[in-house]
Amino acid sequence: MLKNQVAIITGSARGIGKEIALMYYKQGAKIVVNYPGDFEKEAAESVVETIRSEGGEAMAVCADVTNFKEAEELIKTTVSTYGKIDILVNNAGITKDMLLTRMTEAEFDAVINVNLKGVFNCTKFAVKAMLKTGGKIINISSIVGLSGNVGQCNYSASKAGIIGFTKTIAKEYGSRNIRVNAIAPGFIQTDMTKVLKESVKEEMNKQIPLKRLGNPEEIAKVATFLASDLASYVTGEVIRVDGGMAM
Ligand code: NAD
Repeated sequence: MLKNQVAIITGSARGIGKEIALMYYKQGAKIVVNYPGDFEKEAAESVVETIRSEGGEAMAVCADVTNFKEAEELIKTTVSTYGKIDILVNNAGITKDMLLTRMTEAEFDAVINVNLKGVFNCTKFAVKAMLKTGGKIINISSIVGLSGNVGQCNYSASKAGIIGFTKTIAKEYGSRNIRVNAIAPGFIQTDMTKVLKESVKEEMNKQIPLKRLGNPEEIAKVATFLASDLASYVTGEVIRVDGGMAM
């Protein structure tokens, strides 16, 4: 479904981003595995190795998405290596949960910087590179951006911001055949949710019609759909992938 396409997935050394990278490669894409710093170099290289060992094309590029210059370099390196960029998945994200009155300015700023400003930085340079060719942007939001969540005012604001950003860029660049969509995952089993206590997970399961947490492949499948021609008339959309939790 993604034959000869070039895809950058931010924060793809592990978790949901890694699954998207692997699924896109299986559908024929050349993959840029982005990671933010040396601590994840090995993990990023191992995703690249997996793809290369099966005959695919991939490279790892270190860039902190909060850094405007590094985001620009990420796009430039991709275009100079593979000649173009067709797909950008803005997946990099962090949490720093705390109730509003106890949340520090630094905790608020850090989450907005990665989750929202990082999306601006990467999308700005990717769209510039896509103006002549068209392209697909997939932003990973969250159901808490739709419904809010106690202890996550920074995170839910960043994820709601992504939805407004997605719809605006879809309107601005639809005429250039650039489709921009968001995915709002529910609770997905990754390092991000591994820290939650079993009792909390059991409580969550009760609120999920499908009665279980999701897995990263279930997000990757929808990200593949949105990147492919199956979604050729879909733009400005937010797709919940949450087992029915936020309906
Ligand atoms: P994760 O923590 O396993 O992976 C996030 C990745 O982003 C890591 O590899 C991390 O190093 C990278 N990253 C962090 N800051 C970065 C930066 N400044 N520049 C580049 N990369 C950076 O988390 P995950 O669960 O795989 O989450 C992926 C995305 O899905 C995030 O945007 C997250 O908010 C969103 N999401 C996750 C869940 C869930 O339940 N796991 C639910 C809803 C939304």
